[in-house]
Amino acid sequence: METRTDDVKVAARPASLSPSRASDFMQCPLLYRFRVIDKLPEKPSEAATRGTLVHAVLERLFDAPATERTAPRAKALVPGQWDRLREAKPELAELFADDGAGERVAQWLADAEKLVERWFTLEDPTRLEPAERELFVEAELASGLKLRGIIDRVDVAPTGEVRIVDYKTGKAPRPEYAEGALFQMKFYALVVWRLKGLIPRRLQLVYLGSGDVITYDPVQADLERVERKLLALWEAIVLATETGEWRPRPTKLCGWCDHQAVCPEFGGTPPPYPLPVRAPESGADEQGRMGPG
Ligand code: SF4
Repeated sequence: METRTDDVKVAARPASLSPSRASDFMQCPLLYRFRVIDKLPEKPSEAATRGTLVHAVLERLFDAPATERTAPRAKALVPGQWDRLREAKPELAELFADDGAGERVAQWLADAEKLVERWFTLEDPTRLEPAERELFVEAELASGLKLRGIIDRVDVAPTGEVRIVDYKTGKAPRPEYAEGALFQMKFYALVVWRLKGLIPRRLQLVYLGSGDVITYDPVQADLERVERKLLALWEAIVLATETGEWRPRPTKLCGWCDHQAVCPEFGGTPPPYPLPVRAPESGADEQGRMGPG
């Protein structure tokens, strides 16, 4: 069911789960509501936009013949990809609206080039021939839950073994937080397994911010665990959707949240809930207790 709230945004029941939205709900159910149901606008951030730009450059580089996939060539792609990004998303212009002399954008582009350059210390694209880049995947579990996402790169060895690769422009997490980082990769592995009946041999996170590579070789039990976790998460999301009970869960990550002005934890009032609700029942207590493990 959809409810038109104004000319642009349409509130809708959640229909599928992606790794980012699953992480949103685990971080803060109210943040999930603001993003998925209310679809409140968020300001573009320099860091996230730089991530998008670097991803685009790494993807496009594979258009060139293997021997020409060099660091100078990759860095040379940065300005053109930035132009394309701005054309596709005119709202990005506001990022540097107050940067009359262009110094900030120049530094920002130089930082993007550094991240691109660092990639060459971690992987050698002249020896890679990805089977897929920026691959949209979607699988429906037996329960009807749809999982979807975009995988940065899929490599397939001559033996048929599959490696899923994701680029991160930030720094690698400390070991105690690695499980959270791997959650996204296990999510993708589960989708690939359900789609193709094949468990990826390796999951690889490439951290361009710190120059680290984290790998994990999943086994069936890992993916079954993630599937159970996602089903429980989805049940909690469906319950919250029906009852309209989306609890704020304040953490230090609130500092990055665009919605403090409408968050009760910061003295704000959320917009009227745009979907029909039913009374909550006891047992609706799963929110905020879900970790990525
Ligand atoms: S400010 Fe914090 S508690 Fe409030 S919605 Fe954002 S993440 Fe959740």
